[in-house]
Amino acid sequence: MHPFHTIIEPFRIKSVEALRFTTRDERIATLARADHNVFKLAADAVLVDLLTDSGTGAMSSAQWGALMQGDESYAGSRSFFRFESAVRDLTGFRHIIPTHQGRAAERILFHTVLHPGDIVPNNTHFDTTRANVEAEQAEARDLVIEEGRQPGVIHPFKGNIDLAALEALLETEGDRVPLVMVTVTNNSGGGQPVSLANLRGVRALCDRYGKPFFLDACRFAENAWFIRQREAGQAGRSPRDIAREMFSLADGCTMSAKKDGLANIGGFLAMNRDAWAEACRTLLILTEGFPTYGGLAGYDLEAIARGLEEVVEESYLRYRIRSTEYLADKVRAAGVPIVQPAGGHAVYLDARALLPHIPPLEYPGIALLNALYVEGGVRGVEIGTVMFGLHPDGSEAAAPLDLVRLAIPRRVYTQSHIDYVAEVVIHVAGMRGQLRGYRITSAPRVLRHFTASFEPLG
Ligand SMILES: *Cc1c(COP(=O)(O)O)cnc(C)c1O
Repeated sequence: MHPFHTIIEPFRIKSVEALRFTTRDERIATLARADHNVFKLAADAVLVDLLTDSGTGAMSSAQWGALMQGDESYAGSRSFFRFESAVRDLTGFRHIIPTHQGRAAERILFHTVLHPGDIVPNNTHFDTTRANVEAEQAEARDLVIEEGRQPGVIHPFKGNIDLAALEALLETEGDRVPLVMVTVTNNSGGGQPVSLANLRGVRALCDRYGKPFFLDACRFAENAWFIRQREAGQAGRSPRDIAREMFSLADGCTMSAKKDGLANIGGFLAMNRDAWAEACRTLLILTEGFPTYGGLAGYDLEAIARGLEEVVEESYLRYRIRSTEYLADKVRAAGVPIVQPAGGHAVYLDARALLPHIPPLEYPGIALLNALYVEGGVRGVEIGTVMFGLHPDGSEAAAPLDLVRLAIPRRVYTQSHIDYVAEVVIHVAGMRGQLRGYRITSAPRVLRHFTASFEPLG
């Protein structure tokens, strides 16, 4: 052990991409032209882009080098076998099916195994997961523990599924449950981790009731790091070893390689069941491509294979989780309300608590989000009443929470960028009394947050 405490970025920079600076007046005009919806901004009008951590990471020089090794053969490419062995080595699953991103893996799995009226339990379904379950006329049921629903409550594993509720579901309506899912980390629940003990509990219930257990594994490495830090007896293990145990408890997984694959595109579906895998591959050929490329280029498969090795390195995960927590610590110390503790990939600002004078149907999340852009050129995303408040019958109600998520792209920003973001957040929190709500002037009926137009009130 050395005597130094600073956790440095575990890389140096070989290639840079210039940022474009804008003035506050320019940003006011740009945001108005974008109908006050940051999704409609051109990305080069944004200084620090924390819209998402999906596909926005920086690849390593080893990954860029691997791109040149890509074998673009339609069938049986060398790159597929490299990808397959990297995924199998990590997950242990028998069948490895590449897809162009995570939601394609979800669609293929659910279309193959769900029937109308089925129920899929999960800690919290991610929005594309829920949409793909509902597209099969099945029900997506969220069973996260009670602590996971309360932003201010501190708990080491707020992503855990409620095992008693899962058992009750399997006991009373088990015939309608074709599989059980758990999302690691729990993205829609604030990027919170799931413990090994909880995964073992799910495994035991699935064995008792004869159900297959699938992980939504998008952030498996971040989850493994939290287990190592927070779960008794895990501190001495390597993240890779913990990740392997997580996968060994499941029968399959869906994965977006745009997150912990450290790639800009890609995903996979993996499983042990022969019959399901065969049916999934047939559907894959129909919609994604031949089973040895699944909608990806050979070079994408190379980048993912290498990314899956880098993402479980200790130095990477220590920096990754600390850099998110660092932003959370800074804004919380200044009194800004956030979801606690910090998630693995993002800090979630509690806009409703910060802006109590703006009622949920005047969208406090949009007010905060737009102020972060105007004041500092920082882009996040609203996770609140705009995203979740519109119901299929056309009625509108407050979402459970109004949050602004600041997602941190992997290996992209340095500590000074994050210091700047904290400064912007604290500055905007200081002018909270001046912020005003918004009204929606036009919006589609589904997934309205992407394209809605807003108008400031007052
Ligand atoms: C991103 C994500 C998905 C979907 O993956 P895409 O690559 O965006 O299609 C599914 N589940 C979770 C938890 C995610 O974070």
